[in-house]
Amino acid sequence: GQKEEVNLNSLCDEYLRLSFHGLRAKDKAFNANFQTRFDESIGRINVVPQDIGRVLLNLINNAFYAVSERKKMAGEGYSPTVTITTKRINLPSGQEGVEIVVADNGTGIPAENVNKIFQPFFSTKPTGQGTGLGLSISYDIVTKQHGGTIQIQTKEDEGTSFIIQLPCR
Ligand code: ADP
Ligand code: MG
Repeated sequence: GQKEEVNLNSLCDEYLRLSFHGLRAKDKAFNANFQTRFDESIGRINVVPQDIGRVLLNLINNAFYAVSERKKMAGEGYSPTVTITTKRINLPSGQEGVEIVVADNGTGIPAENVNKIFQPFFSTKPTGQGTGLGLSISYDIVTKQHGGTIQIQTKEDEGTSFIIQLPCR
């Protein structure tokens, strides 16, 4: 794929809806809140749209999965929520960049799994529900193809945030 100038906020919005409606079509009982907090000043950024889209879709699907799993165990007051935030940042290199955070209040990731999740074929999902390739592919797309970084913050029974930083060009 070719790099193109895209509106990252629109891309995030599009994939959030796509994921939500896709999961809902598969399972009528699926439900979760989703919200966006966009920095409208980030403007257009130079990425391969299909590939960054694939990263977003995987992070969003993982987040919806994690909130659905927690919902099975949580009490009445639990409100499953996936949030995407964007903001303009200055990268350590001095370049202008953007940060995208995909956050959920789902199951979180146990400490012993945190450094395995980017390995190919690592999955805790039942057979047929996950290939374990999503994050390893996402890692390559963000770092090798776009010169960015991907980091994680997680706590069991509280939730997980994936933080992506990309240079604007
Ligand atoms: P898959 O989704 O096919 O399992 P991924 O590479 O996308 O593969 O994710 C690997 C594993 O990382 C998942 O099986 C899950 O254990 C963990 N994981 C990823 N994202 C989250 C999340 N948002 N919350 C909890 N666990 C997660
Ligand atoms: Mg996945």
